[in-house]
Amino acid sequence: MTADASPPTGLSGPPTDALIVGAGPAGLALAAELSARGLSVRVTDPAPHAPFPATYGAWRDDLPGWAQDCAAHTWADVRVYTGPQPTPLLRPYTLLDNAGLRAALLGRAGRGLTLTAARVCGATRTAGGWTVQGTQDGQPARWEARVVIDASGHQPALLRHPDRHPDGAALQTAYGIVATFDRPPSAPGAVVWMDYRTPHGDPPADLRGGATFLYAMHLGGDRYFVEETSLIARPAPTRQDLEARLHARLHAQGTPPREIISDEWVSFPMNTAPPAAGEGSVLAFGAAAGLVHPISGFQVSGALRDAPAVADAIAGALRDGGDPVQAGWDALWPPERRAARAVHLLGVQALLNLPPRALPAFFAAFFALPPARWHAFLDPRTPPGPLARTMLRLFAHAPAHVRLPLARAALRHAGTSLHALNAAARP
Ligand SMILES: Cc1cc2nc3c(=O)[nH]c(=O)nc-3n(C[C@H](O)[C@H](O)[C@H](O)COP(=O)(O)OP(=O)(O)OC[C@H]3O[C@@H](n4cnc5c(N)ncnc54)[C@H](O)[C@@H]3O)c2cc1C
Repeated sequence: MTADASPPTGLSGPPTDALIVGAGPAGLALAAELSARGLSVRVTDPAPHAPFPATYGAWRDDLPGWAQDCAAHTWADVRVYTGPQPTPLLRPYTLLDNAGLRAALLGRAGRGLTLTAARVCGATRTAGGWTVQGTQDGQPARWEARVVIDASGHQPALLRHPDRHPDGAALQTAYGIVATFDRPPSAPGAVVWMDYRTPHGDPPADLRGGATFLYAMHLGGDRYFVEETSLIARPAPTRQDLEARLHARLHAQGTPPREIISDEWVSFPMNTAPPAAGEGSVLAFGAAAGLVHPISGFQVSGALRDAPAVADAIAGALRDGGDPVQAGWDALWPPERRAARAVHLLGVQALLNLPPRALPAFFAAFFALPPARWHAFLDPRTPPGPLARTMLRLFAHAPAHVRLPLARAALRHAGTSLHALNAAARP
């Protein structure tokens, strides 16, 4: 990493090839790749050296090889409960070591990376690139860069995308704790990816979003991470709802926590439409670019995998005099991926229309699919055709009480369904 040399008059630092807003996993992944290609890169974040705050899980085989070495834990025993008996998923699952991941990303960066403690509030296009405005040490600040990338998370600081959630945001919300327990609150030695059993009773009728499930990891010894999760809902359960439901579950199981070490609140939109690469717009990456998977809520492994291709596109355009914003969008959201998102958003509509009681049966049918099919369905790179075929197969194999609401949802959203399936059918 470089330290800022004396900046030209009026600027808060020397101009750079790229300025990335946000030092989350996505921003740092792209910064590392761009700087490794010889570009000068400034990453601005109010706390650019702070550890990533969230608990990041990923399928191990979704992570690039180098990131597989950044595991805090990897479990071979991964299960779901859609009824009394577990379904083994036979796919190793990793909890990322956030400090290790951050260090690995910085270790992959080239010499031209600068981390700047600043909040960005605006960007204006100029003849040679962009002027970016923000605050640094409580003072107005200004930087120049040839390309600006908004990687500031779920509520982008710069990207304008009025149609981000055309039908309103549908949220994943969850409340989790890391705690010690006298008795195991979930299977020892395992990750429980979804536990739809309800020892704490059916969800109260007034619980927004209905059914919730337990996501749990054994962290070793008497330490577990347990999280009460609402996969996707509009409106979604609140933090108070989920905290109360998690403790009700743990007490009903006879496994109350002995000591709570930390807690976390999860809330982010799942149904983000692909951004339009509008005239004058900055480029975006990570959650800001709508890359959260609409069915799983995962994004981190995808950002780590996408970063090299997006960096190649930006670096190529800067070298050849092309438009780096357009090149970046083309690499990130090619037409096939946009069509795949339309199919996934149809799946979101189906999930939102399922009665809460039908969710366990829906996921029982989902995980009864051949593993290659459900793996592909959860992979953001899967083309629309195979996605649509998997959805039809799931529909055909689901029990009648799941199929009916799915069919109703497809009819209610007939326009979107036809658009998605047409897009999926295109070569
Ligand atoms: C609690 C939680 C748990 C999650 N768990 C998982 C998981 O297990 N697996 C998974 O794949 N995904 C998970 N997600 C979803 C998603 O992948 C994460 O939100 C992920 O952190 C997004 O990465 P990002 O780098 O795009 O944005 P962020 O991690 O949100 O980083 C954005 C950065 O931008 C900075 N910033 C914001 N505004 C400005 C500004 N104006 N100027 C400068 N900097 C700014 C912020 O300080 C922040 O550091 C989770 C989300 C949450 C909230």
